[in-house]
Amino acid sequence: MTDVMQAITPETMTNAPRPEGIRNWRREEKGGILRLWLDCEGTGTNVISEDVLRELGSLLDIIADDRPRALAIRSAKPAGFAAGADIDGFSALRGAAAREKLEQGHAVLDTLAALPFPTIAVVHGHVLGGGFELALACAHRIGIDGVKFGFPEVQLGLHPGLGGTFRLPALIDPVEAMQMMLTGRSAHDRKAKRLGIVDALVPERHVEAALAAAADGRIDAAETGFRAAALRTRAARSLAAGRMRSEAEKKAPVRHYPAPHALIALWETHGGDAAAMQKAEIASFAELLDSATAQNLIRAFFLRRKLKSAGRGADGIDHVHVIGAGAMGAEIAAWSAIRGKRVTLEDVALEPLGAAIRQASKICDAKHLSGIETRDALDRMMPDPDGLGRSRADLVIEAAPEKRALKEKIYAALKDELKPGAILATNTSSIPLADLTPAAPDAARFAGLHFFNPVSKMQLVEVVAHERAAKETLDRLAAFTTAIDRLPARVHDYPGFLVNRVLTPYLMEALLLVDEGRDKREIDAAALAFGMPMGPVALADTVGLDICLEVAGSLRGALDRPMPDTPDWLAEMVGKGHVGRKADRGLYDYSGGEEPPDTPAEDPDEELIDRLILPMCDAGVECLRKRVASDADTVDAAMIFATGWAPFRGGPMHYAETRGHSAILERLRMLEGRHGPRFAPDPGWDDLG
Ligand code: NAD
Repeated sequence: MTDVMQAITPETMTNAPRPEGIRNWRREEKGGILRLWLDCEGTGTNVISEDVLRELGSLLDIIADDRPRALAIRSAKPAGFAAGADIDGFSALRGAAAREKLEQGHAVLDTLAALPFPTIAVVHGHVLGGGFELALACAHRIGIDGVKFGFPEVQLGLHPGLGGTFRLPALIDPVEAMQMMLTGRSAHDRKAKRLGIVDALVPERHVEAALAAAADGRIDAAETGFRAAALRTRAARSLAAGRMRSEAEKKAPVRHYPAPHALIALWETHGGDAAAMQKAEIASFAELLDSATAQNLIRAFFLRRKLKSAGRGADGIDHVHVIGAGAMGAEIAAWSAIRGKRVTLEDVALEPLGAAIRQASKICDAKHLSGIETRDALDRMMPDPDGLGRSRADLVIEAAPEKRALKEKIYAALKDELKPGAILATNTSSIPLADLTPAAPDAARFAGLHFFNPVSKMQLVEVVAHERAAKETLDRLAAFTTAIDRLPARVHDYPGFLVNRVLTPYLMEALLLVDEGRDKREIDAAALAFGMPMGPVALADTVGLDICLEVAGSLRGALDRPMPDTPDWLAEMVGKGHVGRKADRGLYDYSGGEEPPDTPAEDPDEELIDRLILPMCDAGVECLRKRVASDADTVDAAMIFATGWAPFRGGPMHYAETRGHSAILERLRMLEGRHGPRFAPDPGWDDLG
């Protein structure tokens, strides 16, 4: 969301020619300084691919002989320097082949690093992963205001693999360098300057002056300070590594996420010895690439892209009118305004409208928007107590309370008001669209747009079809979802739609386990050990026990399979107002300082885990059989991006496939025998082969 690059031409920032036979670089000489512009062909974003590096290698061979005054490397893409390595290129590589490619890439960057004249990376926007490593191989880095450096590799189950593990700790405080690589957290412009990642931070108009200074040696390379010297001994590094290890273990247990631990070991053993670390980095990266964790996290990366591509095209939506400014409506309105839509927000009460504006400005703060960006977003979001926006909006999103009659009344009032072509979408989570459709002004232009709470944090939105919805309506809603930077999952009307249908058994089974007398902490810690981001008891408290009770009731009535009754004490707790986190008291007593466990069980009860997890796999199969989702990837992607479902396991369907369908079926039948018909496998397993 930086505004730095907006003044620059949309496609490429230079007309310098591409040398013959070169597709990804442009070459230009000005004032004795040779410039290589990275400009990957046929895309708006640079990635560091094998071709990019090979071409750079051949350009450097010629440049080394030319002996320019200095070499500057920068990006011709307004979007930024580079978004990282080319994941499409390396994800399929394994073992020796991966090692060979890595060695070739390292050789090119080593050549760059060894050039006998000043080399300067001039970087703007995103400088990520392999792009960051390319910049690190230069002697100097000039950052343009708004620049953002980061190593997101951990999110793919990897660590930097093109020299980052030894070049960054050699450049800045090694502990800060390790933190960046271990957490994937990025460093924005001023922070990057403070850390010493850039030698200078300048606005675009001062780039030439800064370049000239660097070329003449009038720029000081950042000093590696006291801490780097102190950490030169193995004993000192071991002490720091021990601390890093226990921090990493809390957030990313080694048995699920080996990469941070491999990185710590690399640094502890070889820190300060660049040559040894380079060799070890290559070996470690190639080994991680083979791990199931990296493969599944890379798969999640592709699933995200697949969801996005299902929401391509123009949405034809400039103005959004939101009805209901409660928990959901306020966030939907604020988020749409932040992402550039004009928004009117209507409510029967005035108080929620004021609260919604306050909430919007909190979201702007949390997302680090600049003062101008915040002002613009708030200008785009207008409280509209009289509903004047209804007749002007291209999309009306109804986020009124979950009562069918109330929603029907709202739709009836919209009948003569919507402008031609406008879409009406409902955010209902449990009322079947089939029930609401007859009340909609135009069934073809009516559909579900199911956001998750809170909208500003949860990436997924279900675009819910029903029998009479037009394809164009669904396409536009998916495109709208992508336009506001959320991920659309296209699903079909069904009790709980896709995500809540699959997730509910996880919550319900936990309540039954509590009812059996199992310790709630044991249940939550077992789920964490499987890799769920939150245990089911804690999740039930977070969602609200009142909502759990309601959802269980509505699913029980609507599904054609057995669902046990919720324990009597649940309704009693709800009756007493002990509804979970929002009341400070639920299954955990937060008022008394009680908190759910945040560390996974070391030796969890496998049957307990299966009771929680396998019904979700089974519900996923049911959703496929009922065509709620078109394929297993959609189920996996929706569960990962809506609920954080153990991403390193690749989602519930992928997990079932990895463990083996027949093994899962056998286990479900065993659980059915022991605990009842709710575990009876769905007939859809037979279709999966
Ligand atoms: P809420 O009770 O917080 O807010 C509803 C708002 O609608 C209130 O501000 C109320 O004053 C207003 N309202 C009532 N009648 C109205 C009318 N006739 N016209 C305009 N405004 C009216 O509810 P919520 O949690 O935001 O839920 C809204 C919808 O979103 C529901 O359908 C719910 O099922 C769905 N949903 C909720 C969540 C969640 O976690 N809260 C998640 C996904 C979907």
